[in-house]
Parts: sequence; structure tokens; C-alpha cells
Amino acid sequence: MTISIGIVGAGIIGRLLALKACARGWRVTLFERGAEDGATACSSVSPAMLAPYCELDVAEKTVSDLGALSLRLWPEILCEFDLPVYFQQAGSLVVAPPQNSDELEHFARTVKSRASEDVFQNIKSDELKVFEPDLDSRFQSGLFFPSEGQIDSRGALAALLMAARERGADCRFGQEVRAIRPNEIDCGNATSKFDMVFDCRGYGAAKDIKNLRAVRGEIIRLHAPDVHLNRPVRLLHPRWPLYVVPRPDNHYIIGATTIESEDASPIALRSMLEMLSAAFTISAGFSEARILETLTGLRPAFPDNEPRIMHQPGLIRVNGVYRHGFLLAPVLTDYACQLAEKSQPSAPMPYLVREAA
Ligand SMILES: Cc1cc2nc3c(=O)[nH]c(=O)nc-3n(C[C@H](O)[C@H](O)[C@H](O)COP(=O)(O)OP(=O)(O)OC[C@H]3O[C@@H](n4cnc5c(N)ncnc54)[C@H](O)[C@@H]3O)c2cc1C
Repeated sequence: MTISIGIVGAGIIGRLLALKACARGWRVTLFERGAEDGATACSSVSPAMLAPYCELDVAEKTVSDLGALSLRLWPEILCEFDLPVYFQQAGSLVVAPPQNSDELEHFARTVKSRASEDVFQNIKSDELKVFEPDLDSRFQSGLFFPSEGQIDSRGALAALLMAARERGADCRFGQEVRAIRPNEIDCGNATSKFDMVFDCRGYGAAKDIKNLRAVRGEIIRLHAPDVHLNRPVRLLHPRWPLYVVPRPDNHYIIGATTIESEDASPIALRSMLEMLSAAFTISAGFSEARILETLTGLRPAFPDNEPRIMHQPGLIRVNGVYRHGFLLAPVLTDYACQLAEKSQPSAPMPYLVREAA
């Protein structure tokens, strides 16, 4: 018998879930209050670094282990797309100015203590020049994480939607959902019934999920023809920790702030000044860059900043993916599908919460 499912929320979690459900032959209806371009989704703001090991500085080993698993799944997902989507796996580089070399040592110690294998290489000044010739010469050493990657978030959202539609998903945009109940999605004027409902509303689910909070993040998109960086560069700095993520044609994303707030208003002047100053520290070539766009997103997070899959009969919620939505989406959506079909999970799922009906 064909399973019918309703998904609420077309961020990275909802869209990838829709594609995976279609691949299983399920009948899929996706409800999203915003437009197809994902402008109301935190996902469209994300630079979408797939960095399971660099994140060990702030995340638990379990997140990193699942992230490493997910990173291996992304290339298979890309094969499902008809649209080309920028994906790169050329590693990440972490640097600190010489006066903050203790920050680099601390970062290396933290990652080493949490990782189960050697995940980075120490890079000295002359090698750094070969890795990233445009990096400012004041940087004397760095840490290179060879297996990490990144994906174009907006491109991935568009390609996922196209692929899900081609496989039969009924995707309804501009459709605000008023209430979610087991087996039911209520849009105010009509209630639809499903074998399983998936709640993928990100921070939009806060009124229904205890302890879900928002963590504001701001980014700046630049065009910098004078800068040629080959991979994401993270700058460790006591006041302005930031990253620069390269995209094709000398486009860059500078990010990101991490602010405990549910304010989704445009970027603050102070954040902009700090991020641009820090970018200039990485390479003086940014001085002639053009500012294309600034964006703000609300990361959905639980108090421990770890994700949850909350399950009760007829309803599965996937949320709290914090700063790891792209990193974790492949494994979390697999688990959610396996739960719905009551099949054996492909790997242990540490973030499963069984809720009373
Ligand atoms: C600045 C920044 C940098 C980041 N960097 C990275 C990174 O490098 N790597 C990484 O993996 N992650 C990163 N993240 C985190 C990542 O973007 C999030 O974890 C992820 O986008 C959350 O996805 P989601 O699908 O859960 O939620 P969302 O993307 O927010 O999607 C939820 C969707 O639900 C819809 N919705 C809500 N309520 C309703 C309703 N009532 N009815 C209908 N629709 C509704 C919303 O409109 C939205 O489209 C970053 C985030 C930010 C802000």
C-alpha cells in the first residue's frame, strides 16, 4: 500500500525529506508558507559548509559523527538533481593572526580531544602560501581539514524542489499551516489527512516544541574579483571569529554572527563592520569587493544545540538542527523515513525522542 505523507516546511529538512519519500514511492504533499525561493527559510541564508570536524570546536562528537556520515551521502543526492549545484570537497582551512596563535592551539586541542581519528594537518607558513596564495602574509600557520566540503544552499533548495516535483510531490507554496496534529495538517480553511505528518518548520514550530529557541545569524555576500580563495577559511579571533566561504566567479560569503535572539530584522551595522574588518584581515583584496547582499536567518536550536527527531504515532518532528542543517540533513531525513516505515535504522539514532500520543 502507498503511504501518504504531509510535510510542513520547505527548508533543507522538508525538501530533502520530500525527495527521499518520493524515492520510496510515497505520496507526498509539501506545505510551505513562503515562496519557492526559500526566502522565509533559514536554509537559504546558510553558506552550507559541510564541516563535521571544524565544528567539533562547538559541537559534540555525535553531531560530528553523523555529519561525517552525511557528508558521504551528499554526492549520491547530487546525482538525483537535474540542475547543476555547486558542491566542493576541497577541505577547510583554520587560521589565526600571530598574536592569537593560542586560539589556534586551543582549537587544535579541542578538536583532537573530541575526534576519534586524525582529522587535520598542521600547515606552516610556506605551505600556507601554496594552499591559499591570497591569504594575508601575516598568517604563519594553520590547520587543514582535508575531507570537508560545502554546497550552494540556494542551488540545493531549488534542485531538491525540482527533483521532488518530477517524482510526483505536490508542493504547495504560500500555504500557511495553522495547526499540526498526528495524521492531520490544518490550513484553516481545510484539513488534510495523511498516514504520517512530518513537522519540518524550523523555528516556525517554536509554539509547539518546548525549549526550541532561535539563534540569529547574519551573513554578507560579496563579489571580490581581486581575491582567489580555494576553500572555506575560518579566522579565529577573540572578538570577530568568522569564516569566508568561496563560491564560483569570485563570489564570497562572509559569516556569521551567533546571537541569542529571535529578531530576524536586517543585519546590524556593528555586525557588518566587524565582519568586513575581519574579512579584510584575511585578504587585503577584499578592500575593492562589492557588497551584493546581506541576509539574516534564525537557526532553530535546543538548549544543548543538538538536533531531535521527535516521534509519536502519526507525527514525526525533525528540528533543532542549529548550525548543522545542511551537514546533518541526509542522515536525519533517512532516519525520519525509516521511522515512518518502521524499518530497521541504518545506524544508531542518538537523537530520537519518543513522545506520548
Ligand atoms: C548565518 C547562518 C549560517 C549557517 N551556516 C551553516 C553551515 O555552514 N552549515 C550547515 O550545515 N548549516 C548552517 N546553518 C544552519 C542551517 O541553515 C539550518 O540548520 C537549517 O537551515 C535549518 O533548516 P530547517 O529546514 O530545519 O528550517 P528552515 O530552513 O527555517 O525551514 C523551515 C521552513 O518552514 C516554513 N514554515 C514555518 N512555519 C510554517 C507554517 N506554519 N506553515 C508553513 N510553513 C512554515 C518556513 O517558512 C521555512 O521555509 C547556518 C544558518 C545560518 C542562519
